[in-house]
Amino acid sequence: MLIDFHTHCFPDKIYERAIQKLKDQSGNIENYSDGSLSGLKNSMKENNVDVSVVLNIATNTHQQKSVNDFASSINNEKDIFSFGSVFPGSEDALDELERIKSLGIRGVKLHPDYQGFNVDDPAMKPIYRKISELGLIVVFHAGFDYGFPPPYKAMPKAMAKAASWIDSPVIAAHWGGINCCEDVLRYLCGENLYFDLSFGYCMLPKAYASMIIEKHGVDKLLFGTDNPWHNANLEMRLLSSLGLSENDMNKIKYINAKKLLKI
Ligand SMILES: [Zn+2]
Repeated sequence: MLIDFHTHCFPDKIYERAIQKLKDQSGNIENYSDGSLSGLKNSMKENNVDVSVVLNIATNTHQQKSVNDFASSINNEKDIFSFGSVFPGSEDALDELERIKSLGIRGVKLHPDYQGFNVDDPAMKPIYRKISELGLIVVFHAGFDYGFPPPYKAMPKAMAKAASWIDSPVIAAHWGGINCCEDVLRYLCGENLYFDLSFGYCMLPKAYASMIIEKHGVDKLLFGTDNPWHNANLEMRLLSSLGLSENDMNKIKYINAKKLLKI
């Protein structure tokens, strides 16, 4: 079994525009599926992925409700677990978190760079408190992002601080942070949070991948791709080169994710 804990897709009406915009913003990085739900499902079939967690992001106040309505509409809790999002600057972010919970959604994605906040800003505490109260899983984008210049808003030291304020499960995406593996090792490994292993192929040197796994432990790692920006075959190339035991691989591929999603 394979669970992909980090994927994206967009509503049918806007996926072409959304993908083009993200490509333009990031220097035209390659996409491995078209950004639609059916594109994601085709990619899952081709790459032997059984379950995908779809991470939606509200990048402004107006989008918040429609993003969560879309998340709810595709959340079948069989092969798709779709997460919601709130825009931290919006007045009704706390109410929207309650609505997300009432829609039966398991978690939220926050992207400090796209949403314009520092992950360890104390002003985020009310949102983190509400997420904790509701027991929602929270996934943070972490480290470098192709779409933005530095300084980045969710680097490892700041992420460790934010995670200490949250009582529900926290996931730092991309092996704890893209292009900052020294600081991931120094500040994040061993802390009480998960890493998803998305977008590591060709980004994270193999030696660092091994050190991160060794230091953080296989119980807090979740397979992920960042589909459409990578796919499972690419990420498995990196993961299967690391010499892990079958038992450890299974924890990363699905056992930890099943526990987290309670499935
Ligand atoms: Zn992503």
